Amino acid sequence: MPELIEDLTAIPNVLVITSRPLSAFTTIGVGGMPRAIVRTNTNAAAKQVLDYLDHMDIPSLVLGGGSNLVIDDGDLDVVAVQLPGSGVRAGDARYTDHVTIDPKSGAITSDAGITWDDLVQSAIGLGLGGLECLSGIPGSVGATPVQNVGAYGVEIAHILNAVLVYDRQTKAAQWIEPEQLDLGYRTSNLKFQDRRIVFAVQLRGNPDGLSAPLRYTELLRMCDAREGERRPSAKVRTAVLAQRRAKGMVYDPHDVDTASAGSFFTNPVVPDLRPVIERVRFACGDDVAERIPVHPVANGYKLSAAWLIERAGFKKGWPENGVATLSTKHSLAITNRGRATTNDVWNLANQIMEEVERTFGIRLHPEPVAYPPRPRPSS
Ligand SMILES: Cc1cc2nc3c(=O)[nH]c(=O)nc-3n(C[C@H](O)[C@H](O)[C@H](O)COP(=O)(O)OP(=O)(O)OC[C@H]3O[C@@H](n4cnc5c(N)ncnc54)[C@H](O)[C@@H]3O)c2cc1C
Repeated sequence: MPELIEDLTAIPNVLVITSRPLSAFTTIGVGGMPRAIVRTNTNAAAKQVLDYLDHMDIPSLVLGGGSNLVIDDGDLDVVAVQLPGSGVRAGDARYTDHVTIDPKSGAITSDAGITWDDLVQSAIGLGLGGLECLSGIPGSVGATPVQNVGAYGVEIAHILNAVLVYDRQTKAAQWIEPEQLDLGYRTSNLKFQDRRIVFAVQLRGNPDGLSAPLRYTELLRMCDAREGERRPSAKVRTAVLAQRRAKGMVYDPHDVDTASAGSFFTNPVVPDLRPVIERVRFACGDDVAERIPVHPVANGYKLSAAWLIERAGFKKGWPENGVATLSTKHSLAITNRGRATTNDVWNLANQIMEEVERTFGIRLHPEPVAYPPRPRPSS
């Protein structure tokens, strides 16, 4: 162990932390003690650290903002690696070493470790549009293509130009086009793998400063817009942040309803609606069966995981007085009320998944990434 720390510390442009559990680096506040956390300041340093760990066969975990991770408790045989830009906030002198924004062309380039919402705020501050609906999503820039983050009808896929990916097997870093990432609903071929690491991201903002066309009823009302209209990005950002705060979807260390990994389950897609309607009719009655929220998509029908969870009997805040509970503001977020262990989080998740499947015949899938990886059921 001392040798490992010495070797890592000897790499230029890294900071090695050995005294802090990963629970301090995840928004849900769980995660045990790693062998080390290594913060890197340049892509060359990140490459050197990853290559060293791979060469020594030491397990590693690329750690962004920890807002989509559920990490086991206890002593962990892993080194967590933070990428350049981590801990550098907008306004810090070093921010411009990691971020460039051209207000004329709308081109935005950022290193992976930069906080996503800082980048959104800077781009909007410089008069760009297109990113505003993604305001307030916690975590790092580098993780945004990993699960194709999205909110209010906009996904990172809509504004992504290119991604600098480091392949740990070939040891080459290369800018690649979004088409090569299989970006889909909360997924890409970068998720649930650790061979290809995002080192930087290039985005395109709208130089006219207007938002993406607005779609969501609540946003349309708040921005005084009709469906498909665009509004100044700063105005839309304010509305998005207000909406998200009301749902506990802006991470705030003082609001326990945000001590989560965001939505814990993805919205399920079913190829055929009829069996679902029959199960809902049987469990909840005709009235409810006629009002199932459904969104037609290319491969079937997208259902609301939150709706299914509530109809299966799990209300916001459930279970009352639990250490891990659903958020009191959002039935899709599992929260740590302060003392939850990782097992508490998974026990609640499993209970919900089993009950939803028993009641409606639909298997929910966790959205966050588990470390160490858990077996993922096929859909
Ligand atoms: C309150 C709250 C609200 C949220 N709202 C939304 C939302 O509206 N929409 C949405 O899509 N998500 C949402 N999320 C989920 C989360 O914020 C996003 O998935 C975010 O992109 C995760 O970024 P991160 O840096 O925290 O990733 P982490 O949690 O640190 O990592 C997640 C996974 O990505 C991997 N990873 C991280 N960085 C890289 C990289 N550079 N290259 C390769 N792999 C990497 C990690 O190894 C891990 O497997 C929310 C979460 C919270 C807590």
